[in-house]
Amino acid sequence: MTKINRRTLMSGAGALTLAGVAQAGFASHAVAQSVPAVPTRPMPALARTHDTVSLTAVQTNRPRVALTFDDGPHPQNTPWLLDILAQYRAKATFYVIGQNARRYPEIMRRIVAEGHEIGNHTFTHPVLSQLGDGNVLREVDRTQQIVWDTVGAVPVTMRPPYGSFSHRQMRMLFDQRNLTSVVWSVDPQDWRRPGVSVVADRMVRGARPGAVILAHDIHGPTIRAVPAALDGILAQGLQPVTMSDLLAWPHWGPRGLRYVAGPAGHYQG
Ligand SMILES: [Zn+2]
Repeated sequence: MTKINRRTLMSGAGALTLAGVAQAGFASHAVAQSVPAVPTRPMPALARTHDTVSLTAVQTNRPRVALTFDDGPHPQNTPWLLDILAQYRAKATFYVIGQNARRYPEIMRRIVAEGHEIGNHTFTHPVLSQLGDGNVLREVDRTQQIVWDTVGAVPVTMRPPYGSFSHRQMRMLFDQRNLTSVVWSVDPQDWRRPGVSVVADRMVRGARPGAVILAHDIHGPTIRAVPAALDGILAQGLQPVTMSDLLAWPHWGPRGLRYVAGPAGHYQG
């Protein structure tokens, strides 16, 4: 997990070149108003509720999978993806980069209002295995704070960029912050742009109970692959749920709001 490959360069370059590309065919929903924009309390520390330091998949017989989307929010692709997920009544987890979260607070609030989960994907997307513990914690803490300031909830999992994070670092993060590192069990390599149908097919073929499926909502072709991926996943009787739901942890969500579970899950004041 500490090896760095071409993904390091490709993913970063993709983020830059796609940032200004408008995607046709997305329709923006009105942002639900039930999520508080500015929390009135300081960010609470996460409680130690389990002993899971890190995971790549979840041990379960229940027919559920986690779809996870990294590197956003993206101003066009993320709302487009949210429209698709709503049509399919599918829930996902968004591993956001802190500096993107700070730039697109309305999209952050829409993600949460529609019952999805937000995870921590650091602030600047560095190769964490090359950083000392102090800098790792600063990267993580800044994003925790931005998510709290934006949606009034604290991420309970962290995804290391490029999956590059040593076991010692994962233990350190868990000991210091009670944050679990979530890698993945299915990687469609969508950042290589192998084609829409190839991405969808890889997501479907990797799907099994407890799978954690990686994708990137900064890439337009990835979003175009999602309907076919969801068709295939649902046809196997698998339900896409958030990471917290897959782990059967207390649901991640805004303080003071109650999560109404189910396919149309959402928060109520
Ligand atoms: Zn990433």
